[in-house]
Amino acid sequence: MTMHLPGNDPKLSYPRHTLVTGGAGSSGSHVCDSLLQRGDRVICVDNLFTGSMRNIRPLLNHPHFQFIEHDVRQPIRIDGALDRIYNLACPASPQHYQRDPIGTMKTCVVGTMNVLELARQKSCRVLQASTSEVYGDPEIHPQPESYVGHVNAIGPRACYDEGKRAAEALIFDYQRVFDLQVKVARIFNTYGPRMLENDGRVVSNFIVQALQGDPITVYGSGKQTRCFCFVDDLIRGLELLMESPASVTGPINFGNPQEMSIEAIAHEILACTGSSSTLQFKPLPQDDPKRRKPLIEAAEQLLGWRPRIPLRTGLEATIAYFALQLAGSAKPETVTLTRRTPKKGVRVRLTVASQS
Ligand code: NAD
Ligand code: UDP
Repeated sequence: MTMHLPGNDPKLSYPRHTLVTGGAGSSGSHVCDSLLQRGDRVICVDNLFTGSMRNIRPLLNHPHFQFIEHDVRQPIRIDGALDRIYNLACPASPQHYQRDPIGTMKTCVVGTMNVLELARQKSCRVLQASTSEVYGDPEIHPQPESYVGHVNAIGPRACYDEGKRAAEALIFDYQRVFDLQVKVARIFNTYGPRMLENDGRVVSNFIVQALQGDPITVYGSGKQTRCFCFVDDLIRGLELLMESPASVTGPINFGNPQEMSIEAIAHEILACTGSSSTLQFKPLPQDDPKRRKPLIEAAEQLLGWRPRIPLRTGLEATIAYFALQLAGSAKPETVTLTRRTPKKGVRVRLTVASQS
């Protein structure tokens, strides 16, 4: 079955042939699921730097799914037709992109150029997963797409921030020079099931710490803010952007405008898990943005998109995922998730037994 979204190219042959780079990652694997469900033939390319086979294992026997272990910093060769490329390959967690900063810059720049060359060769559309990090530590709040940003070009985050900025520059040059159909999504903090336990980003860190009864590591004062978008909302937005008319190129912000402090998200996660973990304050990493919030009028007006999943609902789904993952690993033998039901305030204990 195929779904015809508004803005589809009427000449496009069905089913669509779609490449997802970074398709074994915490967002990319959901993109693969969603595209397969709507009838696409999906090729996932990933070097497993921060991705996991666990995320795509259920897809490996699907007749329309193919996994290729490959690094996008090397030229990408795909046999046959391609209609769409979602370019998500890149570590997104500061901890991981700073682990190999030169490699990260290369993934952003050389990797994106390899993707664009493939798109040229196949005459197909490309969607780039860009980031709110192109705004750096913003001096304008909230951030519209027209804001040119405030990035420290020589700091430890630059490998990612400047890498993604260079990737955007390349993409729009390919559009101008080769008339390539391009789409750029600027993604703000997104969370959900399939993040790694050691991903290092705030939501997964706090959930894992809360479930294990470990201290919740708040960096700095905890007064810095972010906005958290559930992964399903993001994927719906990316698909709408990909299938929008050719004139809609972006960049377009995707994020949940509900702004909250890091301390507040820590308390929210403690409440959702029923954990008795305490907050442990640690030094703030260099260049950590103080405030961040997307303006999403462009996504609303051009795509009819806005996030639908409330924070509580998204957190509960993510907590349930991590509870199962932790139960499946050796430590601890059982994970007890205690939560309050929304209406009556009753505490429910869910104990997930280890499978080992
Ligand atoms: P992730 O780390 O879970 O997934 C990234 C995937 O890319 C992983 O599977 C990894 O193995 C793969 N990868 C990394 N380098 C590669 C390379 N050189 N060749 C092939 N594969 C490679 O991150 P995510 O949260 O799923 O992010 C996906 C994309 O969205 C990234 O491009 C990221 O920059 C962008 N993004 C995400 C967020 C967010 O909050 N999730 C925010 C802004 C931008
Ligand atoms: N953070 C934190 N504790 C953690 C991980 C992150 O306090 O264990 C903070 C981090 O300093 C930042 C915010 O949470 O202010 C979001 O960090 P994350 O790495 O998730 O994303 P990004 O900084 O890229 O927005």
